[in-house]
Amino acid sequence: MKALFKPNPGPGFELVDRPEPTPGPDDVKIRVLTTGICGTDLHLLEWDKSAQSMAQAPMIAGHEFYGEVVEVGSDVRKVKVGDRVSGEGHIVCGVCRNCRAGRRQMCIHTSSVGVQRDGAFAEFVVIPETNTWVHHGDISPELGAIFDPFGNAVHTALAFPLLGEDVLITGAGPIGLMAIAVARHAGARKIAITDVSPTRLRMAEDLGVDAAIDVSQSRIAEVQKELGMVEGFDVGLEMSGHPTALGEMIENMNHGGNIAILGLPTGDISIDWAKVVTHMLTLKGIYGREMYETWYAMSAMLGSNPALRTAISSIVTDVFPAAEWEQAFSAAKSAGRGKVVLDWSKV
Ligand SMILES: [Zn+2]
Ligand SMILES: [Zn+2]
Repeated sequence: MKALFKPNPGPGFELVDRPEPTPGPDDVKIRVLTTGICGTDLHLLEWDKSAQSMAQAPMIAGHEFYGEVVEVGSDVRKVKVGDRVSGEGHIVCGVCRNCRAGRRQMCIHTSSVGVQRDGAFAEFVVIPETNTWVHHGDISPELGAIFDPFGNAVHTALAFPLLGEDVLITGAGPIGLMAIAVARHAGARKIAITDVSPTRLRMAEDLGVDAAIDVSQSRIAEVQKELGMVEGFDVGLEMSGHPTALGEMIENMNHGGNIAILGLPTGDISIDWAKVVTHMLTLKGIYGREMYETWYAMSAMLGSNPALRTAISSIVTDVFPAAEWEQAFSAAKSAGRGKVVLDWSKV
């Protein structure tokens, strides 16, 4: 099969022939139709410090995917050949305290598809049946490819109740943009988002955000006034990892506000801890997706809300044949794009 392969530790991938993976008794083998390109994949391509700390070569990257089941192991019970599926990329141990309590997203021994084991930038990928999410509704291959990051948006946005609340999202990358649609679905009142990219802020406006704030030009506090808010945001969704984003978010929260943090800072960041204490704020870290309540919520919301489906589908701005992976990765790197998808039927 063709695969985007990293033969040795170091920058770059090669599109080469690799042996097809074989499913074990509990595994399913999936013919990959589409894959999303994630920030993690850009790190793996560059082989920067963050890539070196999490991955080893030789490896095949890619963890956001959609495809068709072509083979199942002897102990697979429900998933069938021909099922259209996406996959949860975090493979859990099943025996640690959190796994046994049903909190699998908190497994202490997680291994990641496309990072610590061979991934989906290939014509075939193998994952355990338990990590397979079967699509029953009508899901396009492009939408199926972004269930992983859509799940990040859903997990973060639904970390706290949103009904009637004013929501601030910092960072209008693909996940921040998807969070606008999810927060709207969940009943938020005012939704504001920050970024510095005019293209991304325009995409946020197209998704119906109440305020798209260019933080290189104006401050969130001023925009609060324009929105008619008097006390501050009730819920914050930090999705940028930018060193100043969390600090400015804290400045703009109402007392007792809740903040869910998905953005990964790359170094130390300073925030006003006295304000966290005296304003009685709750800060919660978010990683991955809840297994599998987030997946359930994604399918349920897409099935019941056509406007949400249109909004989430609009986040995919580019689809490249897998053979043109280099152009696709440079598109994914530029800030003016939404989600970039590779089509593995064209490799
Ligand atoms: Zn990802
Ligand atoms: Zn575990």
